[in-house]
Amino acid sequence: MKAVSWQGRQSVQVDTVPDPQILNDRDAIVKITSTAICGSDLHLYNGFVPGMIKGDILGHEFMGEVVEVGRGVGNLKVGDRVVVPFPIACGNCTACQAEAYSLCENSNPNAWMVEPIWGHATAGFFGYSHLAGGYAGGQAEFARVPFADVGPLKVPSNLTDEQVLFLSDIFPTGYMGAEMCNIQRGDVIAVWGAGPVGQFAAKSALMLGAERVIVIDRFEDRLRMAREKVGAETIHYEQANVLEALKELTGGRGPDSVIDAVGMEAHGHGPLYAYDKVAQTTKMTTDRPVALREAILACKNGGTVSVIGVYSGIIDKFPMGAVMNRSLTIKTGQTHVHRYMRPLLDRIERGEIDPSFVVTHTMRLDDAALGYDKFLNKEDGCVKVVLKP
Ligand code: NAD
Ligand code: ZN
Ligand code: ZN
Repeated sequence: MKAVSWQGRQSVQVDTVPDPQILNDRDAIVKITSTAICGSDLHLYNGFVPGMIKGDILGHEFMGEVVEVGRGVGNLKVGDRVVVPFPIACGNCTACQAEAYSLCENSNPNAWMVEPIWGHATAGFFGYSHLAGGYAGGQAEFARVPFADVGPLKVPSNLTDEQVLFLSDIFPTGYMGAEMCNIQRGDVIAVWGAGPVGQFAAKSALMLGAERVIVIDRFEDRLRMAREKVGAETIHYEQANVLEALKELTGGRGPDSVIDAVGMEAHGHGPLYAYDKVAQTTKMTTDRPVALREAILACKNGGTVSVIGVYSGIIDKFPMGAVMNRSLTIKTGQTHVHRYMRPLLDRIERGEIDPSFVVTHTMRLDDAALGYDKFLNKEDGCVKVVLKP
């Protein structure tokens, strides 16, 4: 089959590799009809996530048709159309029982690699480095889906791939980001990052009852999408002082909760950003937390800082004094996707949201290298790339 493989920093290619096979009773094989490139893939692409090996198959947002099932998969049959969540979860362990699926204790055989860095391991994730289990990803013609009796969600035929594909990751991720804000009537929520994850976080905040949502970025086409498709207000961070602008929009108090949908490769300006760039390049730190710092400073006293942007290791100049003295709560996590798929599919079916609004580019899997490049550089209005095997 054809699959997109990681070749090193800013290099991917489409290779011909062996077809995946059933290895365990609870596996299924899915023939992929649509797959997408995520901001999390960019962290791998840019070489900021350790544990990648040349030839690793990328991709964790995918859907398709079940073509083979193991003996232990009673709920799926050949021909079913499914969306697959990016965390791999057993459904039985303590974490899964608590619906903390991205922390499954049984799906990451490489836990020992991560424990020295993070203390404890996460679940395995598709296409997300050997630290997350080294599972082959879904930017391919086929994928092996472990614990297929737990993860994949059957989707109705009247919805297009683009309407349901993002249940695999970014819609639940944005939703969890908003849910962690414990939104009350009248709340104002600010979202850093108008990428696909930020768009879904903003939309979800409004669905969960926020009165106003303010989205911050520097790409005008993304900000326009947030205004026109989501109903958010926007701040262009190169044209305004974000902290001042947010104070002005919130009677001086700051947003009730803030969402970081940017993560470890934030951009910025000024001496602190220069410091971050040098520290990250020289490996003194791993992450550039520009948006996270600003979100913390902006947040109202007693508010919640919801972090869905991905961080990999160590950050510097972290404003712990602001967090402590102003009673802020930080909530974060890789998304517990399984928990959200069914209720969010219901919202799609009820017409409350059509997630396809983020798709700006549809390409053949063969053109994956171009897709990565366009998405990285946010060229020709690129917000989300869907690849068709
Ligand atoms: P993306 O690269 O398309 O979007 C990031 C956006 O942040 C860009 O538009 C960029 O201009 C903006 N940005 C950069 N610096 C900024 C700053 N200082 N202030 C405001 N905006 C800034 O990526 P995406 O697909 O939207 O993903 C966003 C983040 O979410 C990534 O870190 C990704 O890894 C993470 N993510 C997390 C999960 C999870 O499970 N928690 C799941 C999916 C994605
Ligand atoms: Zn993703
Ligand atoms: Zn588990």
